Amino acid sequence: MRYLPVFLDLQTGPVLLVGTGELARAKLRVLVAAGARIRWFAISAAHDVLGLEPAQLARIELAKGDPLAADLTGVVAIFCAGAGDIGVAMAARAKSVGLPVNVMDDLAHSSFIFPAIVDRGDVVVAIGTGGTSPVVARRVRERIEAVLPARIGDLAKFIGRFRKSIHARIPETLLRRRFWERVIDGPIGALVLSGNKDDAEAALHEIADASEFAGAAASGQPQGSVTLVGAGPGDPDLLTVKALRALQDADIVFYDELVSSEILDRIRRDAARVAVGRRVGQPGIGQDAINRLMIEAAKSGQRAVRLKGGDGFVFGRGGEEVEALRQAGVAYSVVPGITAGLGAAAQYEVPLTFRNEALRITFLTAHQAKDAETVDWSALTDAKMTVVVYMGMTAAPSVREGLLAAGRSGETPVGVFARVTRPDAQAVVGTLDRLRELIAKIDGGPAILIIGDVVAHSAPWRHQTLTQTISELLEAAE
Ligand code: SAH
Repeated sequence: MRYLPVFLDLQTGPVLLVGTGELARAKLRVLVAAGARIRWFAISAAHDVLGLEPAQLARIELAKGDPLAADLTGVVAIFCAGAGDIGVAMAARAKSVGLPVNVMDDLAHSSFIFPAIVDRGDVVVAIGTGGTSPVVARRVRERIEAVLPARIGDLAKFIGRFRKSIHARIPETLLRRRFWERVIDGPIGALVLSGNKDDAEAALHEIADASEFAGAAASGQPQGSVTLVGAGPGDPDLLTVKALRALQDADIVFYDELVSSEILDRIRRDAARVAVGRRVGQPGIGQDAINRLMIEAAKSGQRAVRLKGGDGFVFGRGGEEVEALRQAGVAYSVVPGITAGLGAAAQYEVPLTFRNEALRITFLTAHQAKDAETVDWSALTDAKMTVVVYMGMTAAPSVREGLLAAGRSGETPVGVFARVTRPDAQAVVGTLDRLRELIAKIDGGPAILIIGDVVAHSAPWRHQTLTQTISELLEAAE
């Protein structure tokens, strides 16, 4: 993000518009709609204000003379549209006095850019593409227009009217936020959105105990909770709808090292974030401390989210956390995530089961060689079983030996899939015999192994086979 979206108060002074023709008129319409007072230097003789309403015309002052010599006292911002070289000179002048300036379709001379706008009264959405593509911005705008209720601005105004009185009734910030969430998400919000403001207001006045309505406990504090959320393997589009909602509703988020930054971006901006995972070369704060922090947060009334890579119940210690929360009497819920093995399977087209070829799946972990020693490999001899190994990079040699000793063929197809669903994902395929070489080709974890005949159906395997065939053909042709 290079451009920070901010909302400019147009009540504080006039804006300057320099330019002429359709471009200037288009800008004029937006500025008038935003309630600006406009001092317009139409640099050619024709002040083309055709199509503007009298009320809009009243907001425009047609300025005479040279805009480069104009008095800029009190001016909020300068817009140049269809102004040619004068626009460029005006931009230099604006910058020299520290005024924000936009020259239409000219990033180099602008100090701010104009977003595409979705206008719902008090609710305004600004869409920017860093000046790269107005067409993309327009498409985004269409989508937002389609999902945003027409009266969402009315809802904001409605809440604005009662904010002060509710503030007085519920001084506690967390509880007040819950109150408004319940208003917005419940029948009162629905009434406003359907245009029934009077009934909505009556319903709001009928709330006798605002704290109780907000879900306060007997202590008067908001009721806290913990939501265990599976973040999936990295791609933020793989978050579930529930996970996204939990991240948006959170007061505090405890997250692991495996959670990608794109997913952390989906957390409500004002929520506190606490990294509790292990960092490379550094131990984490430990499971007991994590449990303690979550419990404390929930008991102080916060909505805590415990955010984990993949799924919390697949090698994620979610079970222990649930136990601790239960013992502490804290309200909790669990939101599943897409586990790394399923993410890898989908991305690289490894069907984990396949008719007559693979009838069973085993998810196992082999963190260290000593874990690998405790695995009962004899249970994995079935050639029709797909084996998915988590944390198996360093223990790969033991995994290989274990499976071979149990009677699996050295020719069994294997895939090593690293950083799956992330932009830098990597896949290496080969046979169990060559597992060590495959691992050596991986440029960094986390990585997961999939072992079984089904790997031969995967996209990288097909690609490798095709490349081999072509090079054999080429050799034969020489
Ligand atoms: N709860 C997680 C697993 C945690 S154990 C889940 O359900 O996915 C950590 C191991 O998960 C890593 O060592 C690696 O084997 C695997 N893993 C997690 N994210 C991964 C990713 N994006 N790509 C490949 N493997 C991943």
